[in-house]
Amino acid sequence: MSPLPALSNLIDGVLLAPKGERWLDVHEPATGKLFARCPDSDARDVDAAVAAATRAAPGWASTPVEQRARLLDRLATLVERDLEDLAQLESQDSGKPVKLARSLDIPRAVANLRFFAAAIGQWSSEAHATDARALNYTLRQPLGAVACISPWNLPLYLFTWKIAPALATGNAVVAKPSEVTPCTAARLGELALEAGFPPGVLNIVLGTGPGVGQPLVEHPAIKAVSFTGSTRTGAAIALATAAKFKKVSLEMGGKNPAIVFADADLSDANLETIVRSGFANQGEICLCGSRLLVQRSIFDAFKARYLERVRALRVGDPQDPASDLGALVSRAHFDKVTGCIERARSEGGRILCGGDAVRIDGRCAGGWFVAPTVIEGLSNDSATNQEEIFGPVVTLIPFDEEEEALAIANGTGYGLAASLWTADLARAHRCAARLEFGIVWINCWLLRDLRTPFGGVKNSGIGREGGVDALRFFTEAKNICVRLD
Ligand code: NAD
Repeated sequence: MSPLPALSNLIDGVLLAPKGERWLDVHEPATGKLFARCPDSDARDVDAAVAAATRAAPGWASTPVEQRARLLDRLATLVERDLEDLAQLESQDSGKPVKLARSLDIPRAVANLRFFAAAIGQWSSEAHATDARALNYTLRQPLGAVACISPWNLPLYLFTWKIAPALATGNAVVAKPSEVTPCTAARLGELALEAGFPPGVLNIVLGTGPGVGQPLVEHPAIKAVSFTGSTRTGAAIALATAAKFKKVSLEMGGKNPAIVFADADLSDANLETIVRSGFANQGEICLCGSRLLVQRSIFDAFKARYLERVRALRVGDPQDPASDLGALVSRAHFDKVTGCIERARSEGGRILCGGDAVRIDGRCAGGWFVAPTVIEGLSNDSATNQEEIFGPVVTLIPFDEEEEALAIANGTGYGLAASLWTADLARAHRCAARLEFGIVWINCWLLRDLRTPFGGVKNSGIGREGGVDALRFFTEAKNICVRLD
């Protein structure tokens, strides 16, 4: 049997095995089979990467903006060149349909790199004239060595969302993708070498949260941490960095509502979007609407149409273009999601469709597939409606009036994203202002503009990423006051 391909860390411009020579198994979720080995790096690898980033940071900070932008652009072009390979790899690593990786994940990684390459050339800082007495101007200087930590659900998409603004603003980066889906980030490391990034400017250390993430965020030379992942890990990072007053941007979990009012335009296309907002990427998108609130006067009619569409979703081999949903990302996550469905049953929830694992014959017989599941009959304070499941599970909740819808929607500890569907413009604006979420979509979902502030409130996050917010996060503002009289 030929040995499994081994991924490499990228440290100081060199592709390296972990110092401890320990490895993690990487499984293909669609088959349950091993297909690669990932470095199980430790604090020694982190130390080497942070030392390299610290050495590289001053040179990178003083590299002309145009040159930094050109390198990011070159990297985008290489990702675009390898789009098909990367899409296949992302699908193999995460279980998502290839067609989704091809149409969403990898194009979005290209867009992230291009967006921040362009943004940095357009960015300017402020000046404040204090009458005729003084002139203030603000320098926005890079921080030095920064950490970017990303999760498994949109692996390359979220990895590039962080490293692109960090690099564009002149920081040297130590990045850690999820150990569950490390493959495309490792490939990006190779492409960064091909693009010609100077050694140490982008370092990628592969391994677990305790093995790599923790020593990285605690490292005294790391000035800021941009993290996307679970609320539990976000809390651990907040604790680990608080006493050192590091900058943190924490993008965490959600329990997002989609609110459908009786007056909503429920055209087939809109209904399609509502279905997608629950089940895209197997429901493994932090922005998915897992609580579907529907006004009681249309509840039964809506439910019938909605269920018909959900039942038509095809779960299958991610390589099959006909598959709408692929496999869940890992055995552990499969167990979690199926356990949540069991809990919903024990809480008195009625399973309207799905509710079980799906067995796919042939190549995917050992895969971790779950049927799109719709549940009704649970109160908003049930664990099912309060805790993030992060899988293909949506609960239906009826409401009578706007006030009640807002109370249910706001009635969780999370506050990442909400979507609302109504033809009443005044209601749309009124509700949007009162929804306690960082992002509100009206009559749409996942319609993204990379310039907009992205992030959550309450247990969903601190800070905003995207556009100017990301450029601000990765720089320190220094005000300079010149006396004029
Ligand atoms: P996770 O918190 O388990 O892991 C995320 C990353 O943090 C991984 O790279 C992991 O190795 C690392 N990590 C784990 N422990 C660490 C520690 N102590 N110190 C530093 N790093 C550590 O999350 P996950 O299971 O990979 O991702 C799913 C979660 O991510 C869900 O809760 C989802 O809602 C959330 N998410 C949020 C957003 C957003 O933008 N708000 C986007 C995508 C996913």
